Amino acid sequence: MSQSNTPVPLLDLKAQYATIRQEIREAIDNVIESQYFILGPEVAALEEEIAAYSQCKFGIGVSSGTDALLISLMAIDLKPGDEVVTTPYTFFATAGSIARLGAKPVFVDIDPVTYNIDPSGIEAAITERTRAILPVHLYGQMADVDPIMEIARRHNLLVIEDAAQAIGSEYKGRRAGSVGHLGTFSFFPSKNLGAFGDGGMVTANDPALADRVKLLRNHGYRPKYYNKVVGGNFRLDAIQAAVLRVKLKHLDQWSQARRQNAETYRRLFDESGLVVDSVEELDRKPAVLLPREAPESRHIYNQFVIRIPNRDAVKTALKEDGIGSEIYYPVPLHLQECFAELAHHAGDFPASEKAAAQTLALPIYPELTEHMQRAVVTAITHHLHP
Ligand SMILES: *Cc1c(COP(=O)(O)O)cnc(C)c1O
Repeated sequence: MSQSNTPVPLLDLKAQYATIRQEIREAIDNVIESQYFILGPEVAALEEEIAAYSQCKFGIGVSSGTDALLISLMAIDLKPGDEVVTTPYTFFATAGSIARLGAKPVFVDIDPVTYNIDPSGIEAAITERTRAILPVHLYGQMADVDPIMEIARRHNLLVIEDAAQAIGSEYKGRRAGSVGHLGTFSFFPSKNLGAFGDGGMVTANDPALADRVKLLRNHGYRPKYYNKVVGGNFRLDAIQAAVLRVKLKHLDQWSQARRQNAETYRRLFDESGLVVDSVEELDRKPAVLLPREAPESRHIYNQFVIRIPNRDAVKTALKEDGIGSEIYYPVPLHLQECFAELAHHAGDFPASEKAAAQTLALPIYPELTEHMQRAVVTAITHHLHP
């Protein structure tokens, strides 16, 4: 076992905080002095800024990315027994939110190259109970939204984009969250725009839908204590909004640094001579498949995810070297115990299952140095040959 000299964490939030400490402390202090902690002017300002950043008319700050999904599905009045078409290869909350409303997630397998839902499988999954399509922009690259919107139009369905990992990413110049009827974002600390706790945002262009989300966010009352619909507490804190407003000013630069790091990985892995071009080649020899950028998209690399045949062994060896990596996600959602009643089996969504077995996310955060990236590539190259 080789011992790498350079420990490399998967993510180093302290390194980022060190560059903005003063600005952040002032912003938080302003909120403390105002003693205005829930919603209010900081949240309203953030909503406008995120909406503008995401090329949307409206932004509604909410309590998390999960709640952004849940409240969006509530806003379209999703009912028990309704169906929503989505991907099984995503974070649990995507399908969990559908199930929490008594509706049924109907899975469609992914494109093995981009890891996003394969639009060519969507039409066959639509029934008379289908209400919406919920594509996920996984790892920071937008799903193929043009055909998805076209299918939705033909079948009179709504589209909710799960953009939790994709703030600022683009598809033919259009930003994540601006294409569908609603877009959902997460400010979980490890996302490209991370709060100092939980937070999220829903984006919309339709005023009626945006208003519906806003109503539901605060118990469905309007005016106060006169409840029109059953909503909940989905509110965003002013301190989180203040932190996010500071960070938003740096986001383009951070996303650019992530893209730059991705380029550096490509160069370093190319030098290793282990890179292959297709998933099939991985079956034949120990090699590395790098993430693919679709020509129409601007990837923001919330994650830099490679594929390797002996993934679990390599991950363990990297850990011994002090190099962080993570599996997003080890069990596709159709095989999760909680969805047993959907009666899926191994083999139902082969591209998702194979991705779950072979993908590994490497450190890609903006403050990463080339020296550290070289240590990651050297270690992987070394461990790939068992
Ligand atoms: C992070 C994430 C969520 C949930 O966001 P939280 O803020 O953690 O609730 C939902 N969907 C995807 C794809 C995510 O990556």
